[in-house]
Amino acid sequence: MDFTNKSVLVLGGSRGIGAAIVRRFAADGAKVSFTYSGSPEAAQLVAEETGSTAFSTDSADRDAVIGRVRDSGPLDVLVVNSGIAIFGDAREQDPDAVDRMFRINIHAPYHASVEAARQMPPGGRIVVIGSVNGDRMPMPGLASYALTKSALQGMARGLARDFGPGGITINIVQPGPIDTEANPADGPMKDLMHSFMAIKRHGRPEEVAAMVAWLAGPEAGFVTGAMHTIDGAFGA
Ligand code: NDP
Repeated sequence: MDFTNKSVLVLGGSRGIGAAIVRRFAADGAKVSFTYSGSPEAAQLVAEETGSTAFSTDSADRDAVIGRVRDSGPLDVLVVNSGIAIFGDAREQDPDAVDRMFRINIHAPYHASVEAARQMPPGGRIVVIGSVNGDRMPMPGLASYALTKSALQGMARGLARDFGPGGITINIVQPGPIDTEANPADGPMKDLMHSFMAIKRHGRPEEVAAMVAWLAGPEAGFVTGAMHTIDGAFGA
C-alpha cells in the first residue's frame, strides 16, 4: 500500500499492536506521528527505527487527546489503538480504575475521532482498535472491558452517518488474541483462549496492522460504520 505524503496519527504507538501499525504506515511511506504514555523508552526506539514522531499524551486525559489531534493538523488517517484491560470480578473492581479504563477505551476514541473529522479532507480514514470481546465475552472477569469494546460499535455506526457526506470513513478492527505484552502467546490463558478458536494460535500484531492499512487505503472507500474481526474464529 502506498501512503506517500499521507499524514497518519496513531494514538498508542509505543508497543504491541500500535507499534506494528506505526511500522506498517512508515514502511508504506506515510508521515507518521504517534502517542504514548507509560513507555517513553519504547516510544523513542519506535520513533528512531521508523523516522516517526512520538508525543507523550495520556489517552485518559480528554483535553490532552483533543489537543494532540488538533495540533496534528489535517490528518489523512487517524488510528486509535491505545487501550487497556482490567481483570477481575466486577463486584471487586475499583470504580476509579474502571472509569479510567472507560476514559482510555471509550472517551478517547470518541473525542479523537470527532476532533480529527473536523479537519480531515475528503478521503480521510479513521480506524479504531476494538476487540472480538465487543461481540463475544466467553470468560468471567472482563465485563467492564467488554463494555468498552461494545461501545465502539455504536460509536462507529453513528459517526459513519455524520462523517460519510464529507467522504470520511470510520471502522472498528476487532482482534482476537494477539501476541503482545498485554496478551502473550505463552501466557496462562492461552489454552483456554485457543480452545475457542478455529486457528489455534495467537495472531501477530503485523496481521492486525495489515487490516488497518487496507481500511486506511484507497480500496476501502465504500467501507464504513463496520466492524472487522481478525480473531482466528474466536468469536465465530
Ligand atoms: P499493549 O499493552 O501491548 O500496548 C498498549 C499500547 O497502548 C501501548 O503503546 C501503550 O502505550 C498504549 N496506551 C495504553 N494506555 C495508554 C494511555 N493512557 N495513553 C496513551 N497510550 C496508552 O496492548 P496491545 O497492543 O495488546 O493492545 C492494543 C489495542 O488492541 C488495545 O486497544 C487492546 O484493547 C486491543 N486488543 C488487544 C488484543 C490482544 O490480544 N493483544 C485483543 C483485542 C484487542 P504506553 O505503554 O506508552 O502507555
